[in-house]
Amino acid sequence: MLQAKLNNGKLITLFQYSKMEIEKLRANQQFFCPTCNEKVIIKAGSKTIAHFAHRSITDCQSSDGGEGVYHEQGKLLLYRWLQAQGLNASLEEYIPSIKQRPDIFLRIGKKKIAIEYQCARIPTVNVQSRTKGYLSGGIQPLWILGANLFQRIGRNLLKVDHFTLQFLQQYSRDYLPVMYFFDPHSNIFLTASNLYQTDKNRMIGILNMEKLKQIHFKNIFKISRIQPNLLINEWKKAKYKFRIYHPKRIYGKEQLWYKWLYYKGTHREQLPSIIYLPVPSQYRMVTPPWDWQSRICLGIIDPLPLEGAFSLSTCRYQLQRSISTESLPLIKSPGDPILEYLMILCSLNLIQQLSKYQFVKKREIIHYTHMEDALIGDNKLMDEILKNFKTKYEHDSHLIRYTKY
Ligand SMILES: [Zn+2]
Repeated sequence: MLQAKLNNGKLITLFQYSKMEIEKLRANQQFFCPTCNEKVIIKAGSKTIAHFAHRSITDCQSSDGGEGVYHEQGKLLLYRWLQAQGLNASLEEYIPSIKQRPDIFLRIGKKKIAIEYQCARIPTVNVQSRTKGYLSGGIQPLWILGANLFQRIGRNLLKVDHFTLQFLQQYSRDYLPVMYFFDPHSNIFLTASNLYQTDKNRMIGILNMEKLKQIHFKNIFKISRIQPNLLINEWKKAKYKFRIYHPKRIYGKEQLWYKWLYYKGTHREQLPSIIYLPVPSQYRMVTPPWDWQSRICLGIIDPLPLEGAFSLSTCRYQLQRSISTESLPLIKSPGDPILEYLMILCSLNLIQQLSKYQFVKKREIIHYTHMEDALIGDNKLMDEILKNFKTKYEHDSHLIRYTKY
């Protein structure tokens, strides 16, 4: 933390003092954590920013972001960046109504924003309770992750995990979720936007890097939409990898899925191309897209005769263990991955939507016997989806222009 309490209860912020002044303070004063009142010590080095840290491992909320130099430096740079723009920002301010102390508290007109710069992996419950606390106080939380948690694995590929996925944020229903990162060493602010989850640990998206001082705070929320070509090309690669992948060891849910496929008389190499398609709300599922999508295709649609009907609730019932029960307070859209998937199948004329929740089978699902055919079929199908996405994309961008002006 950047602030501590003195004996007389006054708050002190170190970064405004010179090195000599800090040494003097260190010799003559005692410092206390403003949150838990435990004694804290000064950490200052020649190249690092002076800050306070608890003397021992603590469960104090103030150390949740990580008390290391990296975290403190990032917090301070973000704070100065906001101040330089003339914004009303305060550092480590205590908000009595919700008993929370965000790294930076920002007031813009009537809007209140709590910025949390998170570098340390903390328990999920802590993230959830802090997020919910802010929201209950009418404050919009904005999580910015330390770039130590950023892992790029391709031009448009981001590695994610159960921890980082909690920080998917969506401020407008019109856009796909984003994630923010900041690196105090290089002063680079990273925006990962238009995120589409391909499997448990990967997301396709637009990864944008900019020097902090070159961006205005409000611009971090202005996000342009992913080009359909880019998304489909990345998805083709993911689909190819999926098709040719030979797992060495299978266990857990994956093993259950393999068993289920075997029971259905098929294999991963032979699966219809309509299994494993990109849906924006995949983050609401706990199983990978190929798992739950195959259960709809092979478990529900395939056994039906042509013109046979099924409902959305049948699909939901079948997939109840695949749907995440975790609440997503940072996500504005109520997106339903199952419905999104069915709508793609509609656009491919495989099924038809009769009413809001009723669908009817229109064409037989193509199964493969050779991997080569499957690979060709996958590409063909993705090209067809691209064509549909492009039409929708043009339609949507028209809509947005229309609503804005
Ligand atoms: Zn404390």
